[in-house]
Amino acid sequence: MITDTFDVIDKRFTRYAMGNVHREVLHTGMRWAEGPAYFPAGKFLLWSDIPNDRIMRFDETDNSVSVFQSPCGNHNGHTVDPEGRLVSCEHRNRRVSRIEIDGSLTVLASHFDGKRLNSPNDVVVKSDGSIWFTDPTYGIDGDYEGDKADSEIGGSHVYRIDPQSGAVSAVATDFVKPNGLAFSPDESLLYIADTGATHVEDGPRHIRVFDVSDSGTLANGRLFATSTAGLFDGFRLDVDGNIWTSAGDGVHCYTPDGDLIGKILTGEVVANVEFGGIKRNRLYICATTSLQAVYLNTRAARRP
Ligand code: MG
Repeated sequence: MITDTFDVIDKRFTRYAMGNVHREVLHTGMRWAEGPAYFPAGKFLLWSDIPNDRIMRFDETDNSVSVFQSPCGNHNGHTVDPEGRLVSCEHRNRRVSRIEIDGSLTVLASHFDGKRLNSPNDVVVKSDGSIWFTDPTYGIDGDYEGDKADSEIGGSHVYRIDPQSGAVSAVATDFVKPNGLAFSPDESLLYIADTGATHVEDGPRHIRVFDVSDSGTLANGRLFATSTAGLFDGFRLDVDGNIWTSAGDGVHCYTPDGDLIGKILTGEVVANVEFGGIKRNRLYICATTSLQAVYLNTRAARRP
């Protein structure tokens, strides 16, 4: 069944997709929208417009849109940490940073093993304070989304920043282009997308899932799902553990078992999503030139 907003592939999707809900286009005019991050206390969403070198802000209270920061360093992925601070992946500055409560900026990671990072892409913070991010080369491949440069590291890895020492360790080094990442509701699993098909013919266009140890290592990496339309970029999980992921024709919804049960049709390639709203039941969608939103009959995953 297809409505103007939802494509129901499996009847399990009908509990989430309400028939009287319609996709809203909240703003247009971006060149590549990415990195949505919702601030519950402020009732606003920030997101990146990477080629335009700006962070945008959508205010839920009056539907107004403004520029939050420009220039910004071609930010890509964002997240809000448990203390309510913005954590950013900066393409052009090739680092992960955080805006503190007093407005000052802290650089969390800029190098690994003495070499500059490529261009951090997406980031998530675990409840223990550890910060996990991916570092493909999209921000140094050309001048469109950053500054063209060679990779000093020579690979595209996944990293963890230790919450006590601040040390940066590589937790996965067998990706072609690691991209979006998110924990399962109980944080026992970490899902990581690989968009290597952008650089390697017939390369990865999938999400892998790993077991997460208490000491902060990953094990037992296995294929979770392969995209049926375009690439998986960023994604979020709901309370039931479903994965709401970006794809080439919209947002795809996968059960924890890896079944594609439905889609949100957006009309544009989607880069990332974020649950917002007071009840965290409104899915914000960064779709190339537009910011869109859809109410769902589910909520963002509660994390420990
Ligand atoms: Mg990404």
